[in-house]
Amino acid sequence: MSSESEKFRKYAHQFVDWMADYMDNVEQYPVKSQVAPREIYHQIESRIPDEGERIEDIFEDFRKIIIPGITHWQSPNFFAYFQANTSSPSILAEMLMATLGVQGMKWDTSPASTELEERMMEWLRDAMALPKGWTGVIQDTASTATLASIITAREQKSDYQVNTKGFEGFTNFRVYCSEQTHSSIEKGVKIAGFGKDNLVKVPTDDTLAMDTDLLLEYINMDIAKGYHPLCVVAAIGTTGTMAMDPLKRITKITKKHNIWLHVDAAYAGSALLLPEYQHLINGLENADSFVFNPHKWLFTNFDCSAYFVKDKDALVNTFAILPEYLKTKTDGLVANHCDWGIPLGRRFRSLKLWFVLRHYGLKGLQEKLRFHIELAEWLKDEIVKSPDFEMAVPRSMNLLCFYYKPSHLKNISIEKQNMLNEKLLNNLNSSGEIYLTHTKINDVFILRISIGQTNVRHTHISKAWRFIQEMAKGIL
Ligand SMILES: *Cc1c(COP(=O)(O)O)cnc(C)c1O
Repeated sequence: MSSESEKFRKYAHQFVDWMADYMDNVEQYPVKSQVAPREIYHQIESRIPDEGERIEDIFEDFRKIIIPGITHWQSPNFFAYFQANTSSPSILAEMLMATLGVQGMKWDTSPASTELEERMMEWLRDAMALPKGWTGVIQDTASTATLASIITAREQKSDYQVNTKGFEGFTNFRVYCSEQTHSSIEKGVKIAGFGKDNLVKVPTDDTLAMDTDLLLEYINMDIAKGYHPLCVVAAIGTTGTMAMDPLKRITKITKKHNIWLHVDAAYAGSALLLPEYQHLINGLENADSFVFNPHKWLFTNFDCSAYFVKDKDALVNTFAILPEYLKTKTDGLVANHCDWGIPLGRRFRSLKLWFVLRHYGLKGLQEKLRFHIELAEWLKDEIVKSPDFEMAVPRSMNLLCFYYKPSHLKNISIEKQNMLNEKLLNNLNSSGEIYLTHTKINDVFILRISIGQTNVRHTHISKAWRFIQEMAKGIL
């Protein structure tokens, strides 16, 4: 046995012990890192060491320098943004992936990577009741999937001419999304070359979902002015408040006007494993693409974004290139996933998905998702009962949006109320006990609490709620 593998075995065992202890003790760390700007930077040597160092010493610095600068996303007291959760089967698979270190760019470069990915996408497609004929492929993030979708729309609409000749003759494309959709849509529109002035942000209705009457009106106005409506991006679960754009009504418009429709369900998509939520994608068969992130609310380590398309040839025709050094004997017989998106190199991400989906099984996943939603329902009831807090919008799945409005100050101005809520949020987060983030709706500062960490239990929610109430009393 080589001494290299002997050393590896020794350290790997030590690290695994550290990893398991971390899982047990994660709640003892401040959830949100408490370091000041540049505090970590100045502790790192200013140049590469001349001589190699011992793993013991590097690991010691990891504990001393790095850990204080970590925000603990896997703490059950993490309620910020949307979760990017993990689970032990996913971490175990990541260890295997790291060891194999394969590139799954072409079928030949690791057939198992390609074929397991094909199966995993079929598993998810069928379990989530996505359209039968659709094909899935893993992307690194939803931002990349959305960009791939917008570029595919551009190429399909221009008969692949923009890819060949540039924008000559195709300068008037318009893309539509609601005012509440994620910033990745604007980024995608900029990268795809349309210019962000050609992203039309459609106002929302009182549920903060896209107003489809206005969508139709804007499209008609654009057509009258000589623009080419290219693509609509609908959100199933907006990031601010988890609002649901009315897909069925949107597809009526996109179908009639022959407009590409991409559906961004990055976070909420996991809930489509629950039959009671599958109505949210009624009409999806009339859309063109759909993305959700198993790396958010499906217990699979970042990164793993599941991208599904109706017309896989359009995707491949948009991105395929075949220089001499990438030609293989199996070209044309198998899927070469480097042609299904932007990067060439690809990690073996389907492996962690396989471990997670098999470990929990559909029933186990459904149980966890339903449990998170029940916890959110419990906390919603508490907030509604409290004289000092109000829900900003109704609960949507496992996300609550609420604000503090003390009962004896019912007539305070919005400015004063916002100041109170901002102070409350800052105090909560600097306590290290829990971590929440905020959004603004119609100029009102709103606290968001997302309940989706893999191991969150009822005690974490009841403790967080008591803590929020006490902290709120303290700031007055
Ligand atoms: C998180 C999120 C995104 C971005 O996801 P990435 O995978 O980080 O690119 C896009 N859309 C919605 C609705 C999201 O919640």
